[in-house]
Amino acid sequence: MFKRILIANRGECAIRIIRSCRELGIESVAIFSKADAHAMHVKKADRSVMIGPDPVKSYLNIHRIVNVALESGCDAVHPGYGFLSENAEFAEEIGKAGLTYIGPSPDAIRNMGSKTQAREAMIAADVPVIPGSEGALGSIEEALELAHGMGYPVMLKAAAGGGGRGIRRCDNDAQLKENYSITQREAMAAFGSDELFMEKCIIEPHHIEFQILADAHGNVVHLFERDCSIQRRNQKLVEIAPSNFLTEKLRAEMGEVAVRAAKAVGYVNAGTVEFLVDKDRNFWFMEMNTRLQVEHTITEAITGVDIVSQQIAIAAGKPLPFKQEDLRINGFAIEFRVNAEDPKNDFLPTPGRITRYHSPGGFGVRVDGCVYPGYVLPPFYDSMCAKLTVSGFDWPTTVMRAQRALGEYDIRGVRTTLPFYRQIAACDTFLSGEFHTGFLEQHPELLDYKPFDAREDIAAAVAVAIAAHAGL
Ligand code: ADP
Ligand code: ADP
Ligand code: MG
Repeated sequence: MFKRILIANRGECAIRIIRSCRELGIESVAIFSKADAHAMHVKKADRSVMIGPDPVKSYLNIHRIVNVALESGCDAVHPGYGFLSENAEFAEEIGKAGLTYIGPSPDAIRNMGSKTQAREAMIAADVPVIPGSEGALGSIEEALELAHGMGYPVMLKAAAGGGGRGIRRCDNDAQLKENYSITQREAMAAFGSDELFMEKCIIEPHHIEFQILADAHGNVVHLFERDCSIQRRNQKLVEIAPSNFLTEKLRAEMGEVAVRAAKAVGYVNAGTVEFLVDKDRNFWFMEMNTRLQVEHTITEAITGVDIVSQQIAIAAGKPLPFKQEDLRINGFAIEFRVNAEDPKNDFLPTPGRITRYHSPGGFGVRVDGCVYPGYVLPPFYDSMCAKLTVSGFDWPTTVMRAQRALGEYDIRGVRTTLPFYRQIAACDTFLSGEFHTGFLEQHPELLDYKPFDAREDIAAAVAVAIAAHAGL
């Protein structure tokens, strides 16, 4: 087993990995930018190293991070999610330095990182993929011809895309023509590649993804599914496991396909195979994420498997300690991504000082957070400041627990998505357990809430003003 692991990440994600390290008796080394000197992951790790003045580039500096790992005597590196977690060059450089990358091979990252290449690999493995273009689109003329053949609506997507960006729905020729160059430019700016491809737009789909674990000895299992259909602008906000939409038969079938997909590309470590499922329960492969995922906590809740510990064990060459038939679904779980954003103001990020922080607790409640009272959320990073995961015996119990835990959660000083989630957890569609990706768009009334009690708002503002005046 490893002696010391460098965590090439920050915030809640880094803390999650530090926790598994500690339980495995492995030392953790955190890295931080100057802006993160007061961040919680710096306090929680066994050792922390300042890696540079630039808030964002520091966490992307491959050369520096590999050197810090070597200098601090680490034998492995965990990339977390975001940042360098899907960067094949990073994985490669870690290997070249004689360290172990806790994740899949550089080839797997590269091949699955391109959605067009991934589609080709899946077609070869007899996995159903969303109908669409064969490889990249060469021109707008080709795109128009393909759209006429498939019929509108279609989705124009960036081959290198991620995080919900570089995806545009087109309902007719005019929209396709307009979106083609816009999406190209957007993709180039965000991902450094303007390669586009096209998919049939699936109407009111469910986003259902399967968690995979594959060891270096050829064993591959799935840890069942997560339903991530509650999205805003193609980005997940609330995820549940298992999905209320799948039948036992479909679950088994999709799980088998997900395992086949991973095997087809010789995948090792944790990964996620994402599918879209239409209202008639047809399913198609959408993409594979070659890393730990934000919403892995709900899978941990329903299976009892610590996914990060398994990632570490797999990277250390250990065989999986269970077979597919040993795995069971126990109850339900829901994850809420508590973001420092104002849903009423188009989800604008709200960095600033946290004046009060009370997290919920009790049976079936897990909080993965990285903020504390007095902490100033920097404006440079992802706005997620905590994840609330609740679990319960059945769906209704789990929803009631979610309402209870969201009610206990008290964050002041900055606006968060919590009051919006209280609305979601109390709405009938959520209670019914079945929703597609259009759910939030179809329920704008969920944004009708009072942010916090007006008097408390003023009290918090006064406290901040006094603290600023006193130079605190
Ligand atoms: P999923 O993991 O479900 O695919 P995302 O696409 O949102 O969900 O996951 C990757 C995202 O995680 C990145 O795009 C980034 O916004 C976010 N992220 C990156 N680093 C961190 C971090 N340290 N803490 C929280 N979120 C992060
Ligand atoms: P990312 O890499 O940003 O996660 P994905 O390809 O996984 O991009 O798609 C993200 C989301 O966009 C999906 O969960 C779904 O809501 C929507 N989406 C993507 N492709 C389609 C499609 N062909 N039809 C309908 N919705 C789609
Ligand atoms: Mg995706």
